[in-house]
Amino acid sequence: MPLYEYQCRSCGKTFEMLRRMKDADTELECPNCRSNNVERQFSTFAAGGCGTSGSRGFT
Ligand SMILES: [Zn+2]
Repeated sequence: MPLYEYQCRSCGKTFEMLRRMKDADTELECPNCRSNNVERQFSTFAAGGCGTSGSRGFT
């Protein structure tokens, strides 16, 4: 199961959750304030990590 990162819009809490892919966008509850106002963040592997630092000084 992939690990997803979520942020609660109500209290700003970020948390990670192991979920099945088909459940990734289903509603879940903030573990901090029990709000359902939670959005999924894109994981670091999708963002590409430190890809931009290599371009400096590279000719
Ligand atoms: Zn919350």
